[in-house]
Amino acid sequence: GGNRERIPRWLKQQVPSGENFHRIRNNLRDLNLHTVCEEAKCPNISDCWGGGEHQTATATIMLMGDECTRACRFCSVKTSKTPKPLDPNEPENTAVAISRWGVDYIVLTSVDRDDLADGGAEHFARTIRVLKERSPQILVECLTGDFQGNLDSVATVAQSGLDVYAHNVETVEGLQRYVRDRRAGYRQSIGVLEHAKKVRPGLFTKTSIMLGCGETDDEVLQTMKDLRAADIDCLTLGQYMRPTRKHMKVAEYITPEKFTHWQQVGEQLGFKYVASGPLVRSSYKAGEFFISNILR
Ligand code: SF4
Ligand code: SF4
Repeated sequence: GGNRERIPRWLKQQVPSGENFHRIRNNLRDLNLHTVCEEAKCPNISDCWGGGEHQTATATIMLMGDECTRACRFCSVKTSKTPKPLDPNEPENTAVAISRWGVDYIVLTSVDRDDLADGGAEHFARTIRVLKERSPQILVECLTGDFQGNLDSVATVAQSGLDVYAHNVETVEGLQRYVRDRRAGYRQSIGVLEHAKKVRPGLFTKTSIMLGCGETDDEVLQTMKDLRAADIDCLTLGQYMRPTRKHMKVAEYITPEKFTHWQQVGEQLGFKYVASGPLVRSSYKAGEFFISNILR
């Protein structure tokens, strides 16, 4: 297949290493925690678990199973109309395991659970409450779905004691229909983050855009302005990578220089931080960025 050769050199992955990385990985054994970092073979694991200059290690945990009720065209997660029921012990078990683990900044995310009345909001909230009770020093980010625009669900998560509320718009307005499941939408997603801040002023909000889906520069700029207009604090930009041949094609490989350009544009627009690079993912070094740009 020709797909492999055409991937530019800047997307080549490194082997995970570093003292902090090894410590975090060794501690993970026996905790029965499933990290997105390892399961998705994320290329950033050294950077995130290694903790960078401030030794602030970040990891991402997936809650509520591995079957999503949606089918976005870019995503490799399995789709099911009837995912397995929630494990009622998961919030407690996950929180206890995380508090024993030794990570500083945890991202809790999940598949979309359109089959549940509250979309799983209370399940998220309970996990965060137990975690913060046990380990108040751990910074917690939640990366949720849109709850189909159910603002009560957004409020449940926003008021649970977390530090950062993240939800991804994924792409520019004009490509939403093509890239995301039909139940998702640009305004609905921005509305989630606006509501989180409305019910808990002082909460930091965050979103992510994939580049290389066929968007124009003007559309990227307009998206960044729309996000700032909704007072969204943090932005990450990364290259879309096609998980398999069944997924939508990469329209373009964006150069590292162009990612740096968007970072500068974002900083000028007033985001508290912008993480922008070919391999950047939504949770990329989230703890490191939070400590150096927000808690500073
Ligand atoms: Fe884990 Fe996210 Fe970092 Fe990847 S980007 S290693 S999934 S925290
Ligand atoms: Fe993947 Fe999220 Fe879309 Fe589900 S809602 S298919 S997990 S991107």
